[in-house]
Amino acid sequence: MKPQERGRVSKDNMNNEPMDHFLDVVLPLPLERLFTYTISAQEAAFIRPGMRVAVPFGKSKIYTALAHRVHQNSPTAYQAKEIYQILDEGPLVGPIQWQHWQWVAKYYMCSLGEVVRTALPGAFLLESETMILPNKGAQIDEMALGDDEFLVYEALQRSSSLTIGEIGEIVDRKNVLALVHRLVQKGVALQREELQEQYKPKLVRYVKLAPAYDGEEQLEALLQELGRAPKQVQVLLSLFQWRATQKKPITISGLEKQSGSSRAVIKALIDKGVLDEFQIRQDRVDQGEASRETTGIVLNGHQEKALGDIREGFAQARPMLLQGVTSSGKTEVYIKLLQDCLDQGKQALYLLPEIALTSQLINRLQAYFGNRVSVYHSRYSIHERVEVWNNVMESRDKARIVIGARSALFLPFKELGLVVVDEEHESSYKQFDPAPRYHARDAAVVLANLHGAPILLGSATPSVESSYNVQRGKYGLARMDERYGAVKMPEILLVDIKEASRKKRMKGHFSHQLIEAIAQILGEGEQLILFQNRRGFAPVVECTSCGHVPQCPNCDVSLTYHRHNQQLRCHYCGHHMALQHHCLACGSPTLDTKGLGTQQIQEELEQFFPQARVGRMDLDTTRGKYAHERIISGFENHEMDILVGTQMVTKGLDFRNVGLVGIMNADSMLNFPDYRAHERSFQMLTQVAGRAGRTKKRGLVLIQTYNPDHKILQQVASNDYGGMFLEQLQEREQFGYPPLAKIIKLTLKGRDFNMVNQASDWMASSLKNVLRHQVLGPEYPPVARIRRDYLKNILIKIPGNASLSQTKNGIKRIERSFDAISKYKSVRLVYNVDHI
Ligand code: ADP
Ligand code: ZN
Ligand code: ZN
Repeated sequence: MKPQERGRVSKDNMNNEPMDHFLDVVLPLPLERLFTYTISAQEAAFIRPGMRVAVPFGKSKIYTALAHRVHQNSPTAYQAKEIYQILDEGPLVGPIQWQHWQWVAKYYMCSLGEVVRTALPGAFLLESETMILPNKGAQIDEMALGDDEFLVYEALQRSSSLTIGEIGEIVDRKNVLALVHRLVQKGVALQREELQEQYKPKLVRYVKLAPAYDGEEQLEALLQELGRAPKQVQVLLSLFQWRATQKKPITISGLEKQSGSSRAVIKALIDKGVLDEFQIRQDRVDQGEASRETTGIVLNGHQEKALGDIREGFAQARPMLLQGVTSSGKTEVYIKLLQDCLDQGKQALYLLPEIALTSQLINRLQAYFGNRVSVYHSRYSIHERVEVWNNVMESRDKARIVIGARSALFLPFKELGLVVVDEEHESSYKQFDPAPRYHARDAAVVLANLHGAPILLGSATPSVESSYNVQRGKYGLARMDERYGAVKMPEILLVDIKEASRKKRMKGHFSHQLIEAIAQILGEGEQLILFQNRRGFAPVVECTSCGHVPQCPNCDVSLTYHRHNQQLRCHYCGHHMALQHHCLACGSPTLDTKGLGTQQIQEELEQFFPQARVGRMDLDTTRGKYAHERIISGFENHEMDILVGTQMVTKGLDFRNVGLVGIMNADSMLNFPDYRAHERSFQMLTQVAGRAGRTKKRGLVLIQTYNPDHKILQQVASNDYGGMFLEQLQEREQFGYPPLAKIIKLTLKGRDFNMVNQASDWMASSLKNVLRHQVLGPEYPPVARIRRDYLKNILIKIPGNASLSQTKNGIKRIERSFDAISKYKSVRLVYNVDHI
């Protein structure tokens, strides 16, 4: 046993047990290992894995960490410090969650701390360098604050921000994380990272007579004593009046009204201990009542068949893929399954690629499940996230069904009974930055498996991965090949714009066919959508004299022109400058500002169809919090005739009156240098096309292209998913790409160009020693410098018959040798497993 470190005398230890107790914690940092701290015997008895503790780390920093394991083995490499404080009464993270997070860390080659950082709402993870700011707009009930809280609140009125250390000085103690946690949760203060819109949690304050005055005698004595304070007596009498007539408790503001007195008088009574104050919290995210019964949904034959197949697959504990063409009614099938899950008293998780775009779906689910639906999203305010977290952890009714983007995977589900991954092919399910660079669909399959819960992946255009998993029997398949209500699939025509361009017969970006089709649709009072791919149409400012395009000083890209505020901006690092009126290179005023592709289309439309009402949905027009919703509902309500949009218009929207979809240019997508470009193009084009003709009349889709003979375009036009799948699979097999191989992308980053190059060469040749021809690169990525870091990529292909985990271990061993080379200290390594 190690000598006592904290001056406790072991003689006092009567039952002769060793007195050292240690706690391993996970710090929310990219550290390989857990850290060990000393704790007292009482603390050891109290702490359970998954509780938060405040701990010192580094020179003088304090972090919120998660307790992992209590034990009695002193660390050998360093002297354990004491923890500062336990922050929770019970675990915030349950055993299955731990297991799942450990899988994510291992599979995606990052630290458990990085998973914790992504998984927990930011409000749970204060650290000593977090800046605390006043919550300017909030209505703060000063009476609700404890003494320390009030001191900090006051200080925040006078300063624009405080560090945790400064707050420690204000309240004259070191240990303030718990205090700051409370302030943030009460909405008094904000964390620096949380600068978006903030809400105060809605605590409704009530009062009642303190128990000490419950007897008649005591009461009489009290009234006598208060005789000299008639206002206070008035308040008490009002309270008795309320009690005589009402069953429910009275709120402070209710009592204020009832007695016609002021808050100060009530506070005086609370301070005297005559009244007791208590709070009942009202969740901000209340969704209202369900207005429809799921029993009211009558499935058609295809849906019934699919539902039956899915249930059967679930019974055999197989992940299921629902492949249903656009508008086949997948959502109704999901709703039936969600009902099954609720009938079993379990929780359901419904994952979506991007929450911002899915208010339609949320409304549809809420119509059936009312306030049993919660929405969880990392862009929500900390309070909303904490509320949903707690509701899920307590298995509350209002979080029976959680709709969320990928981070909802990390919620503390207790009794998960169903996972739905909608639009499973979407690449935004993969987190790109920071670590963990996880794929939410794949992590969801693992999560469901840990819970023994069924999982359904749904899409009109499944990823090649998922169809491959069906082919080799890992997933089951249910299909719906027809649209609901006998609606026909849209007619898809390819329009050759090569000829037209050569003969200068295009009107701007429009072919004759497209112009005619638009005119006809408008004449019939219908609506249409025009799709312009985002790629290759970033607006820039170009000098027409010398050709100069302003560049970002930190990154290897051109600055993007933002028309709404006349700025040039870097999309990688945020660097920006005001739009110049003279060329920075040659000084001439001949600058040509090309707007977004969508903007140009909109302008041309206004010229060709001056009567049409044109709306636009792209990065520029969807800045505000509800901007998406406004555009979508405006289009739904037929306040616009034409919607011009980017990728955003492809996402599962269900518009009733769209007779035509035009795709302005299919080629920029197809030519993208990426092994997935063809699969993506097929998915995107099919999804956009699927917005057309969702009611009785057959819709029309026109795809403008320079390559009408391209295989993928032919497959889109003939709705030939199977052909696309087989062909892609062959190609991937031939070139060793997923799903027939696994890939890991390794990126080396650093400020020093030469060092990054040397380090990449060292890394690549070390990897090649072990993995040989599986290693490609190093190579410069298309954007080779970002935020002043130079980048270089190495791609590792792991064939289907090789062991992924052994390969990863091999890579990790090489990383350790790499870390030992001091001249490469400044070069960082980033892993992206299953990079897409
Ligand atoms: P998908 O998600 O497969 O593209 P949706 O679920 O949006 O298709 O269904 C398309 C349309 O058909 C929606 O307006 C939906 O309300 C309607 N629909 C689908 N199934 C039914 C059903 N069983 N009863 C009534 N309406 C249905
Ligand atoms: Zn110039
Ligand atoms: Zn930049």
